[in-house]
Amino acid sequence: MGSVEPQASVEAKLNSGGQIVVNADSQEVRHEVSREVTDGFHLVIDALKLNGIDTIFGLPGIPITDFARKAQAEGMRVISFRHEQNAGNAAAVAGFLTQKPGICLTVSAPGFLNGLTALTNATTNCFPMILISGSSEREIVDLQQGDYEEMDQLAIAKPLCKAAFRVLHAEDIGVGIARAIRAALSGRPGGVYLDLPAKLFAQTMDAETGRKSLIKVVDPAPQQIPGADAVMRAVDLLKGAKRPLIVLGKGAAYAQADAGIRALIEKTGIPYLPMSMAKGLLPDTHELCASAARSFVLPGADVVMLIGARLNWLLSHGKGKTWGGKTHKDWGGQKFIQIDISPQEADSNVRIDAPLVGDIGSCVSALLAAIESTAGSNWAKPPAEWTGAIAERKNKNVAKMAETLARNPVPMNFHSALAVVRDIIKANPDAILVNEGANALDFTRSIVDMVKPRKRLDVGTWGIMGIGMGFSVAAAIVSGEPVIAIEGDSAFGFSGMEVETLCRYNLPVCVVVLNNNGVYGGTDVNPTGGPDAAPTVFVKGARYDKMMEAFGGVGVHATTPAELRKAMEEALRSKKPTLINAVIDETAGTESGRITSLNPSAKKK
Ligand code: ADP
Repeated sequence: MGSVEPQASVEAKLNSGGQIVVNADSQEVRHEVSREVTDGFHLVIDALKLNGIDTIFGLPGIPITDFARKAQAEGMRVISFRHEQNAGNAAAVAGFLTQKPGICLTVSAPGFLNGLTALTNATTNCFPMILISGSSEREIVDLQQGDYEEMDQLAIAKPLCKAAFRVLHAEDIGVGIARAIRAALSGRPGGVYLDLPAKLFAQTMDAETGRKSLIKVVDPAPQQIPGADAVMRAVDLLKGAKRPLIVLGKGAAYAQADAGIRALIEKTGIPYLPMSMAKGLLPDTHELCASAARSFVLPGADVVMLIGARLNWLLSHGKGKTWGGKTHKDWGGQKFIQIDISPQEADSNVRIDAPLVGDIGSCVSALLAAIESTAGSNWAKPPAEWTGAIAERKNKNVAKMAETLARNPVPMNFHSALAVVRDIIKANPDAILVNEGANALDFTRSIVDMVKPRKRLDVGTWGIMGIGMGFSVAAAIVSGEPVIAIEGDSAFGFSGMEVETLCRYNLPVCVVVLNNNGVYGGTDVNPTGGPDAAPTVFVKGARYDKMMEAFGGVGVHATTPAELRKAMEEALRSKKPTLINAVIDETAGTESGRITSLNPSAKKK
């Protein structure tokens, strides 16, 4: 023992549970102490797992690479993307589908900013999501001394999401995650930013103390029961209605109150109109579905009950010609009942005569109970004059559509291609349909019937492009069901690189690119005769199918409905990632799809 070290030699290593075991072997003390230590990495992972969160969507890099590795080592699913916006969109839609906040993990500044678009979009759509970004050293950021990827991320995120938090100390991780979960899920769901500085991950603390600091959130989305007077106000309005209508929004789809909503509609016999992501809450083929008579029921209704749908631009703000007003500012004279979890939503565009504030499940049950107790089996269904007129209009429009769908033009157009998609979805009702584009979106929404809830995921409240592959990856991962993504060629470009992700995880996703050579179409020419292509056109005859082949997936070039059908059927059978380049007439489609009126130049015409 001639070379006795004056100090204790301390050796730390991770044990199988992820905690650091410290062996302090001091020559002076002459005995060995062993205690368990944990660190920031493991506290975050344990806090998420404790709250039933088992999947992270993200993109590794400094300072969260090791976090991603450790999360996977601890049994979480860590799904890596090629761009953070796609990972963020995946997290957002996972939140919508599961009612648990979807987690997106990014690096600092640029990665954070890429994820922020998705976080803001999630908030706009009322999807619960948590964006977790690593960040640089606070002391340097606050003094603006130029750290690696320096950015005051918390300040930037704050106005763009529902809540934003930063955790500086390992012992606060439990609280930080709990607050993020509550903020994302309670009340109106939305996006939350959680800022985790690089230094936090390496902080260590006693494992037992760490364990005790974690919080399993109790009842993160508490029931909100509507007031009895508010319920009666709504029932009275419905009772007096001659031409009632129910509008179902994606809040109703999110709420998973499917049986209650169906019971309410069938008990009252009130026709309903699903917003695009509420399609399938009741089958689109249901006799009370008024989708095919939209332009008749909106101006014609006298009492409209909104269930988880806002009167925003998608519903022409509840006024104007869509609602029977004489000018675009006129109210149509309808009375509105609005079921929403947000007490501030009512009156945001027009007067809401009967606001019903609460969670949709509780509100619908309360309405059913009130209807039962006041009218029982004597509830008067809407007059046949109203339902008959709707049925007549529906039948006419459905017949007209059937005629269009039966045509088989060369080259294919949106209708002949989507007639195939319609059949495929009918035969595979569990498949999830992801849909984005302009014309590709509008035509798919109106042509393809959905028969089950939460099977249609699309561009949502902003009409955003770029959700396609992020949504597809998440839908396949969280549902285990096949996914069919119907993409405009322009929309696909925003997230197209994620076909590699589809192949890497071998996901049962069939992407159909409706390829008409450009944004809206491929016919624009540069009026100057100069060498640059017109701003809306792409390379003609592009072969998007080759992109999928590059990563080992199946690529198919389809020029006829028969080829498209065969390829889609094979994709569903094989469950292999597949991309079908469906060649569409480049003159098919209209400028801006159905929202041409929002285009300033179109307005002038
Ligand atoms: P859409 O675009 O389909 O019309 P919106 O996104 O405009 O639907 O509206 C969704 C609405 O649903 C939001 O106002 C939101 O507050 C509400 N909402 C979301 N979840 C619930 C819930 N569980 N209970 C009640 N309302 C909800």
